[in-house]
Amino acid sequence: VIVAVLKETQAHEQRVAIDPDVTKRLVKQDVSVLVEAGAGESAFYADDAYVAAGAKIVDRQTALSQANLVAVVNRPDDETLGQLKSGQILLGLLSALVEPEKIQQLAQQNVSALSFELLPRTISRAQTMDVLSSQSSVAGYKAALVASDHYPKYFPMMITAAGTVKPAKVLVLGTGVAGLQAIGTAKRLGAVVSGYDVRPASKGEVESLGATFLTSSVSAAGSGGYARSLTAEEQQAQQDELAGFIADNDIVITTAQVPGRKPPLLVPEASVSAAKPGAVFVDLAASDLGGNVAGSQPYETITTPNKAMVIGASNLASELPHSASQLYAKNVQAVITALMTDDGLQIDPTDDVFEGLTATTNGEIINARLRQALN
Ligand code: NAD
Repeated sequence: VIVAVLKETQAHEQRVAIDPDVTKRLVKQDVSVLVEAGAGESAFYADDAYVAAGAKIVDRQTALSQANLVAVVNRPDDETLGQLKSGQILLGLLSALVEPEKIQQLAQQNVSALSFELLPRTISRAQTMDVLSSQSSVAGYKAALVASDHYPKYFPMMITAAGTVKPAKVLVLGTGVAGLQAIGTAKRLGAVVSGYDVRPASKGEVESLGATFLTSSVSAAGSGGYARSLTAEEQQAQQDELAGFIADNDIVITTAQVPGRKPPLLVPEASVSAAKPGAVFVDLAASDLGGNVAGSQPYETITTPNKAMVIGASNLASELPHSASQLYAKNVQAVITALMTDDGLQIDPTDDVFEGLTATTNGEIINARLRQALN
C-alpha cells in the first residue's frame, strides 16, 4: 500500500495531512509513505523528519502517480483533482456538501473520495477518525488566545499596588466542541465566561467548565447532537434576546454552525455598532456565505467606527499548524487502518462508518446526504 501526502494548495492553509509520527506508524504497518517535498514545512515538519520516519520525499507528480491513497487537509485545486487516476482514493476535508459537483467529477474519473465532513460522528468507532472534532478543538483554544491578543485590557482580575483591574467578560455563542474549548481557555486566562447554545444539552458541559450557561428561549436540538436551522421568527427572537447578553460582555466568540448550511447570524449589525470601544468579536463561522457576526470577513480583522474589532477567524486550526496536523494525522491513520485488508486498501460501503464517510467509490455516489444534494 502506498500513501501520498501532498502540499496543500488552498490559500491560508498551513496544516499537513500526515506528520512524521504517523508516518512512522504507517511504515510499521507496511505502508510506503511518499511525501511531496516541503509538504510539512508550514507546519514545522521538515522533510528530514519524514525521511527519518521512513518516508520518501518525492515531487508532486510522482506522489500523484504512484499512490493508492492521497491524503490532504483541504480539497486540492482542480488541476490536481484532474490528475487523480482511476482506482485511487482521495481522503480529506473535501467540502463534499458545499461543492458536490467536484465529487461528481471524481466519480466520473472512478476516483474514490472519502470526505471527513460526512463522517457519522456519533458512531463510537468513528471517533478516532473525527477530524471535525480534533480541528474544532484546536480552533476553539486559539479563538480565546486571538481574542485576548486583540483585547486592549487584561483578561484576569489583577490586584496590584497600582490598583485593581476588573476581569474581562467573555461570551461564547455556540458551545459545541470549539465553543467548549474556547470557554476552557478563556477561563484559564482568568476571564469571567458565559456560554449560550440552542441545544439545552450543552448546559451541563458549560457549567462543568466553571462558566455560566445563558438559557436560550429558543430550543433547536436537531439530529445526531447537532442544532437544526431556526425559523425566521426564532432567529429574530434569538437576536433580540442575545442583544442584551452581547452588550454586557467585552468579548464575544461565535462558533455556531448548522451542517451544510449558511451559518446563522447571531450578532446583527445593531449589536456590533452598540459594542463598547475595545470590544472584540471573534467569528469562527466567518465564511464566504456569511458568518455569525454581521460584517465579518474571512481572514480579515475589521475595526468598526465605534472601535470594536470584528475578526473573521475562518481557519484557526491552521494558525496552530503543528498541533492541528498532529491530531489530523492520527484521524487519517485511523481511516487508513480501517481500510487495510490482505488485498490492499478496500472501501466497504456497507460498513456504517464508510457508508457515511464515502462520498464516492466505483463511480457511484454513496453518502445519502450528498446524493440528495446532487438531486
Ligand atoms: P457545530 O460546529 O456544528 O456547531 C457549533 C455549535 O453551535 C453547536 O453546539 C450548535 O448547537 C451551535 N449552534 C448552531 N446553531 C446555533 C444557533 N442558531 N444559536 C446558537 N448556537 C447554535 O457543532 P460541533 O461542535 O461539531 O458539535 C455539535 C454536537 O455534536 C455537540 O453536542 C458535540 O458534543 C456532538 N458531537 C458528538 C460526537 C460523538 O458523539 N462522537 C462527536 C462530535 C461532536
